[in-house]
Amino acid sequence: MTKSAVLIIYTGGTIGMKTDPRVGALRPFDFSQILEEVPELLKFAGTIDSYSFDPLIDSSDIDPAMWQKMARVIQEKYDQYDGFVVLHGTDTMSYSASALSFMLHNLAKPVIFTGSQLPVGAPRTDGKENLVSAVEIAAAKNPDGSARVPEVAIYFGSKLMRGNRTTKVNAESFEAFRSPNLEPLAETGINIRYNDAIIRKWNGKPLEVSLGLDTRVSILKIHPGITPQVVRNILLGPETRAVIIETYGAGNAPSAAWFMDLVREAAREKILVNVTQCPAGTVDMDLYATGKQMKEAGVVSGFDSTTEAMLAKLFHLLGAGISDAEVKAKLVLSLKGEV
Ligand code: ASP
Repeated sequence: MTKSAVLIIYTGGTIGMKTDPRVGALRPFDFSQILEEVPELLKFAGTIDSYSFDPLIDSSDIDPAMWQKMARVIQEKYDQYDGFVVLHGTDTMSYSASALSFMLHNLAKPVIFTGSQLPVGAPRTDGKENLVSAVEIAAAKNPDGSARVPEVAIYFGSKLMRGNRTTKVNAESFEAFRSPNLEPLAETGINIRYNDAIIRKWNGKPLEVSLGLDTRVSILKIHPGITPQVVRNILLGPETRAVIIETYGAGNAPSAAWFMDLVREAAREKILVNVTQCPAGTVDMDLYATGKQMKEAGVVSGFDSTTEAMLAKLFHLLGAGISDAEVKAKLVLSLKGEV
């Protein structure tokens, strides 16, 4: 079998930093020289090219225009490469991986996000292992020549996780991400153990890309003591088409009359989605009266979606030019394995 060609798309973040000996400070690393720095990469892929964003960005500055740029680069280079590795800061990596999963349709090739907690040039860096394994996974093929992981995924801290199932859980540990509601797609040790049963399969259709994103979405995180003013401003903000309500436990919210009156009023004109604040588990609005009242008000269940995935899903569906009723119907479906 011929060796794969992999494109590394470097958007910014800690992984690409290297100490400049002349000034003793971190500066972005020139990824066009990646093979000189990490020659091991050629063990897994026949060709490795890189594409750097200009300017490089700290991922706290990521916005939907950057997601469109990432999707466009993948679309333009799709036929030239067997797999893609996106190097990205960790802070918003789960949002970006979620967004790309909804923007890229009929994926036959891996799009593997990774980054690191320490710069690739630091002595104890986690960046090198993350990068080498991400490239190995992006290049991996089945015996019939098809890609082993035709999904948007995050590789980090020895685990490959479906991108739209992840959340950043640690600002310090090398295991910075977790996929609380779906087991890893693969784990690395001496070998890479793929969990083929849950890896998505290519549907045989050509790549399609949706670039439309509508960002008129807000997030309301409820908490004891939340005031009517705050709830009103978020739920009924004139610029908002949809609100993700981060509720307690299985999707429960306060039963106070003022709260439910505002929810009912907002649900008449906007799309309201219920996502739990718990890192793991699912919304089940039939379990408690405090959840049932939300369902009766017209709030849509986000089931076990992460907030990151739900935000990206709403941007994508609202940007698709379909009616609110169609958006609501699609919200409850698993479009890319996010539910
Ligand atoms: N602030 C950095 C970023 O997200 C942290 C990192 O790279 O992990 O871009």
